[in-house]
Amino acid sequence: MMSVQLSAAEVSGFRVWADPVKTRAVLDLDRKTSYKLFTLKDPHRVVVDLQGSSIDIPLKLDKEHAGVITGVRYGQPDKNTLRVVFDLSESAELKSFLLEPTAQYNHRLVIDLFTKSGRQKASMVKHVTDISKPNRDVVIAIDAGHGGEDPGAIGKRKTREKDVVLRIARELKKTIDAESGMRAVLTRDGDYYIPLRGRYEKARKARADLFLSIHADAFKKRTVRGSSVFVLSPRGASSEFARLLADSENASDLVGGVTLKDKDDMLASVLLDLSQSATREASNKVAVDILAALKRTGNVHKPHVGRANFMVLKSPDVPSVLIETAFISNPSEEKRLTEKEFQQRMAKAITRGVRDYFYSSPPPGTWIAANRDGLKYVVARGDTLGGIASRYSVSLNRLRSANKIRGDKILVGRELIIPTS
Ligand SMILES: [Zn+2]
Repeated sequence: MMSVQLSAAEVSGFRVWADPVKTRAVLDLDRKTSYKLFTLKDPHRVVVDLQGSSIDIPLKLDKEHAGVITGVRYGQPDKNTLRVVFDLSESAELKSFLLEPTAQYNHRLVIDLFTKSGRQKASMVKHVTDISKPNRDVVIAIDAGHGGEDPGAIGKRKTREKDVVLRIARELKKTIDAESGMRAVLTRDGDYYIPLRGRYEKARKARADLFLSIHADAFKKRTVRGSSVFVLSPRGASSEFARLLADSENASDLVGGVTLKDKDDMLASVLLDLSQSATREASNKVAVDILAALKRTGNVHKPHVGRANFMVLKSPDVPSVLIETAFISNPSEEKRLTEKEFQQRMAKAITRGVRDYFYSSPPPGTWIAANRDGLKYVVARGDTLGGIASRYSVSLNRLRSANKIRGDKILVGRELIIPTS
């Protein structure tokens, strides 16, 4: 139980968001107030008492995003107290805090609920690639921008950037996972917010070979349209670098396998600089390939890769690119962003660009490095997997694993890779 002493307030809004680890409930307030928070059992509940406060909205629960919260109601146990009660599906640990107003929101009381099952899920979410495994997949971290409290840009028809970029990110994961030698992970797979630095940290923890942040652009002039591709501007890179270097916990694992703690500062900064210029070069290359693929499929906003000081691109050791898929401020592109056909077209184009990049510069030890020179074979009518295997003198199992095929079914027109070495 906790208590914070401040003055009275009116509750004017209520939202919930569940991410894989916690459920977050937010109460909008017109000013700071004092509150008490405690839990009850049988059944599990969380009770929030707001001193001298009132409420002028119905508390509607968005069931789809409500996580551990199954119901919400309020009452007045005495004249000076507004009591809000959350019903829970299981017991939860609480964390609560007050937030100051921002451009978008007024004062807020935030209550985070952590459940046991959430913590278990979180430990399963952690996925580390064993990079010493031969012929490993290249790992692409896909970051759907914004989420939760942060809707991103909003179109004229109220389309929210956070929703459409998540759909594009999911399509992109599908097309990447369908490629041999490539695997995608999502930084978020739901409607919740991840801090910017947390996004690239997730990519680093997953040992990603590439980080793609997916967004939709907005501009005052509604006629502006097309996709753009960005990399970090060198100036932004060096400032983040200084911060990371100052933070010894971060610096220790910046350069793959090299511990910097026991190196002097000068050497550490040289090592980091080397790693970072390689990252920058790779980012540029992949950005050029993605932009080229986008040019072939649709409208691009500018013919060159842009440079900007985006925090989310500041990973010093994972090549990072930000893609503005279209302008949500342009009415026809806003409509298109909501359409599955466009989302898939974007996903395919980006995948093509990523594929071109990895096939021209495959990281050593990856499946692509070993197989990029393999023969390509397009399945014709009447072909069987066994027939193709014997024609090219490769074992059936090898052919299966090179193409991620489980059984014996192959579709006419599919391109197979015939392993050569
Ligand atoms: Zn955005």
